[in-house]
Amino acid sequence: MIDFSMYDVKAPEILGYKCLTCGALHYPAPMICSKCSSRRDPVTGKRWETFPLEGPVTLLTWTRVWNLPEGYNVKYLLFGIVEFENGLRASGRLGVDEPRTGMKLNTRVEESDERPGKPVNVFVFE
Ligand SMILES: [Zn+2]
Repeated sequence: MIDFSMYDVKAPEILGYKCLTCGALHYPAPMICSKCSSRRDPVTGKRWETFPLEGPVTLLTWTRVWNLPEGYNVKYLLFGIVEFENGLRASGRLGVDEPRTGMKLNTRVEESDERPGKPVNVFVFE
């Protein structure tokens, strides 16, 4: 874990969304709450709250991807779908060697420049 407190930058984070009308949690952000049909204004975010997705997760399923695009100097990458303690699910890269379905992992968010264009924040579960 990198200590960002000594730098004048914020640790990268990925946000979940909470509908303040009914309290339902969402990730990724929907335009309309699936529980109460309340509309989320993507500009003002009115009546919706955001929170960082972080902390312990449970690994629901995973896969090993071989034949990576040119430019990777590893044989494969591991990806998984996890569930946070609040019930939200997300996918991301796995930072463990031997993943097992049901295992507990921790969440890290890192800035990835693996894709062309602007860097994006991605989950690493380890
Ligand atoms: Zn709602």
